Amino acid sequence: MGNFKKVCVFCGSNSGHKKIFGDAALELGIELVKRKMDLIYGGGSVGLMGMVSQKVHDGGCNVLGIIPTALVPIEISGQAVGDVLTVSDMHERKAEMASRADAFIALPGGYGTMEELLEIISWSQLGIHRKPVGLLNIDGYYDCLLGLFDRGVEEGFIRNSARNIVISAKTAQELIEKMEAYVPLHNQAAPSESWNVKDPAVANL
Ligand code: AMP
Repeated sequence: MGNFKKVCVFCGSNSGHKKIFGDAALELGIELVKRKMDLIYGGGSVGLMGMVSQKVHDGGCNVLGIIPTALVPIEISGQAVGDVLTVSDMHERKAEMASRADAFIALPGGYGTMEELLEIISWSQLGIHRKPVGLLNIDGYYDCLLGLFDRGVEEGFIRNSARNIVISAKTAQELIEKMEAYVPLHNQAAPSESWNVKDPAVANL
């Protein structure tokens, strides 16, 4: 799949209890800057979102926060760094993130992060995009989720070829290297051109 430039990061609006999660968000920010990659994220300065966006912004790379109107108030999301695109709802936010990014990385997070991650995985399976999806498995946080995906394969709900969609690693550097080597192996449920994708380049064909 080769190199990518714009990375969408899904991550917690909280920082988690352990310092290691914040450290991982900062390390990811440093890695993106080192590779001159731009960040697309959920906007705001709360939790791990705030840490990764500040690091990328401080490093001189572009940061775009995409935030639904309801989350804009400073007391909810804090002050975003970089550019901010305000959208009407969560569906629009995720569609904008999906179309603007070349690759996706999930740091530890809660329901919001998991939902964004699972959607982008299933969109790859369906053939809506062919972009790499990476999971930063910090301190084993995602071991259970990865185990569940393996169980899905064992029990016949996830194809082996589709299990390959989820790339995971314990460090940002290793993850990005694996993502750059990613080649989709799965058959798309429906061909990319049959999806109503806003911009044909979005499907990365
Ligand atoms: P969670 O993993 O449940 O903390 O949710 C993380 C995701 O939900 C982020 O990527 C954001 O898209 C969104 N989110 C949740 N809370 C906020 C907030 N206070 N400000 C901005 N985005 C938020």
